Amino acid sequence: MICFKTNDYIEYINQVAIVIKKNKDYITELDSATGDGDHWLNLNIGFEKLVEEATLWGELNYSELFQKIAMTMMSAMGGSSGVLYGSAYLAASKILVEKDYIDEELFGDVLKSWADAISDRGKAKPGDKTMLDTIYPAAEAYQKARKEGKECNESLDMMTKAAKKGAESTKDMVAVKGRASYQMDKSIGHLDPGAITMMMQLVSMANYVKEHCVM
Ligand code: ADP
Ligand code: MG
Repeated sequence: MICFKTNDYIEYINQVAIVIKKNKDYITELDSATGDGDHWLNLNIGFEKLVEEATLWGELNYSELFQKIAMTMMSAMGGSSGVLYGSAYLAASKILVEKDYIDEELFGDVLKSWADAISDRGKAKPGDKTMLDTIYPAAEAYQKARKEGKECNESLDMMTKAAKKGAESTKDMVAVKGRASYQMDKSIGHLDPGAITMMMQLVSMANYVKEHCVM
């Protein structure tokens, strides 16, 4: 079983912040090719702020924690990604009322709520060359694995595999949403930066949960 506690979530945030920081050049390069080049900056500011504020969030339950994360991301991050992540965390906070930990069932529900909220807010669907092309198949793969009775570790591996494949698949897609759609070539041949950073977060999360929260 999975027992992903709120303090683990804060530790996971700290780890993602490091991963994001390390990938400055790569992410900036991707968003310079398809968008306006600020995606790394937006996300990095968001995670720096989360790390700073999370020192005060140790006593919150999951619903409260995710509300704080949503508000911080929405206010600290510029760009579409701030609003989209904010909506994702707000949606997840609604299914985690009074929860102190996320179990293997809720983990899938959280992923699904992120995918649905991002799709609703951004009016995008899988195949549009956005972060949805990572989160959507990742959520589906995890829930499918659970339904088939796979162990937690294997379900998490299926999730990361789908996230990586999904992010990679944006390379050949035509951008129809966001700034990448303003480009003459619709960014064909380039990976979507938001899909890559979503993948980085999901891989970090699966690694963290496998290492610390699978009983
Ligand atoms: P902006 O595009 O406003 O400069 P960012 O650079 O921070 O914002 O984020 C860009 C990423 O946001 C894109 O790579 C894409 O994955 C995601 N994105 C943009 N618009 C949408 C949308 N309508 N739906 C889902 N994701 C989107
Ligand atoms: Mg941008």
